[in-house]
Amino acid sequence: MAYQTINPYTNKLVKTYPDATTEEVETAISTGNALYNKWRAESVNSRAATLHKIADLLRENEDELARIATTDMGKLYAESKDEVELSASIADYYADHGSEMLKPTPISSRNTGDAEIFHQSTGVLMLVEPWNFPYYQIMRVFAPNFMVGNPMLLKHASNTPGSAAAFEKIVRDAGAPDGSLTNLFVSYDQVASIIADSRVQGVALTGSKRGGQSVAEIAGKNLKKNSMELGGSDAFIVLSDADIDTAVDLAWRVRIYNAGQVCTSAKRFIVADNLYDEFLKKLKANFEKLVPGDPMDPKTTIAPMNSKRAKEKLQGQIDKAVTGGAKIYYGNEPIDLPGQFLQPTILTDIDKDNPEFYDEMFGPVAQVFKVSSDEEAIELANDSELGLGGIVVSEDVQHGKHIAEQIETGMVFVNSFLVSLPELPFGGVKGSGYGREMSQLGLTAFTNDKLIVTA
Ligand code: NAP
Repeated sequence: MAYQTINPYTNKLVKTYPDATTEEVETAISTGNALYNKWRAESVNSRAATLHKIADLLRENEDELARIATTDMGKLYAESKDEVELSASIADYYADHGSEMLKPTPISSRNTGDAEIFHQSTGVLMLVEPWNFPYYQIMRVFAPNFMVGNPMLLKHASNTPGSAAAFEKIVRDAGAPDGSLTNLFVSYDQVASIIADSRVQGVALTGSKRGGQSVAEIAGKNLKKNSMELGGSDAFIVLSDADIDTAVDLAWRVRIYNAGQVCTSAKRFIVADNLYDEFLKKLKANFEKLVPGDPMDPKTTIAPMNSKRAKEKLQGQIDKAVTGGAKIYYGNEPIDLPGQFLQPTILTDIDKDNPEFYDEMFGPVAQVFKVSSDEEAIELANDSELGLGGIVVSEDVQHGKHIAEQIETGMVFVNSFLVSLPELPFGGVKGSGYGREMSQLGLTAFTNDKLIVTA
């Protein structure tokens, strides 16, 4: 297993990291388990100050952390800085509210005594995280579980080892005890044996459907609780009463952010027939303005993709879609730069029998569909094996909300970007996985919700 940073803008190998040894894995598990037992005797609130310190250090080191993320996986430097700030805000939120949110929940019961559910820690967790938001993805699980008192082991993506090491260092520098979060450059087999270890109580994975299936199978075999945050092929529904400029302004931004490599970035644009032609024209006009280049340069507006493999995969999907009858409305021209650039592309005429109809396109490619009614829009949006998020655009908020209620996903935003905030639950249904990260739901994803009845 090679954990390496290869800068996707220069294609240069920056650094290779050594694989974790069996002894390092054993030490990480036993240190985490010892910490779990120590933390059980302490109050939840005793960890709040350290979590605030982690937020402070993230902000103080924003420039360096943003450079590391951009070097690891190519996103625009400004987007990397936004990610560091978002991660700090998540840490602050759970430091401020975690203790209150974890207070016992009383239940009104026919029993003569008092019934309460206590939300207690369960033990060491395994985190398996992807490269696309290399700090935020860790923080979504880390901050809530740090407050709960579940120590964590981290297996980050093999192409973002710099970010993984930097996050672990911030946690250590903030004074968090050994074992709070241990980054391990482990193989898939080592991940499997960690999950099987009796001292490890759960696994949280964010990644592809295939990765989720493999890890969930291991977790299931070992009866370990798990949460799966997997891929998405979100619909962006433009209703017939939408304002076209509002719709297009949202559409191009959501499709291009992070070079289109966001699980919840809209990938299928489902547009009412009265707005379809104008939508395409205006979406193209915005794509044409994008400037590829060095992600560290503020003038660059479209970043390279994270790796050669990712670019080749997406290019293959475009080719397959076209062979299957799709038309290229805009894009798909080579970009004369050394990095892993894929020109933002608009595809139309994707029929149900197109081999790419059900695939997630994880990069700057917009599939645009024309529909003649709300019912058709809903049917098309729900005709997916994935169910993560979605966006509905309408001048009539109640109309938008009514459509949102009928979409089979874990999150739908009306007239807004699908934003991730510390207080909002994040997660999907169907092939997009199960469980939620953040909010009360994410905070208690790996707690022992223990019933205590006192007569
Ligand atoms: P991926 O291949 O599944 O990788 C994600 C993580 O899982 C990486 O750390 C990877 O390690 C690890 N992994 C994969 N298979 C594994 C196995 N059998 N055992 C142990 N670890 C394993 O996903 P990706 O293609 O890099 O990421 C993009 C996907 O993630 C897209 O589908 C995207 O929509 C989804 N995503 C979902 C969310 C969400 O919150 N729902 C957020 C972001 C991304 P290696 O790097 O070493 O292979």
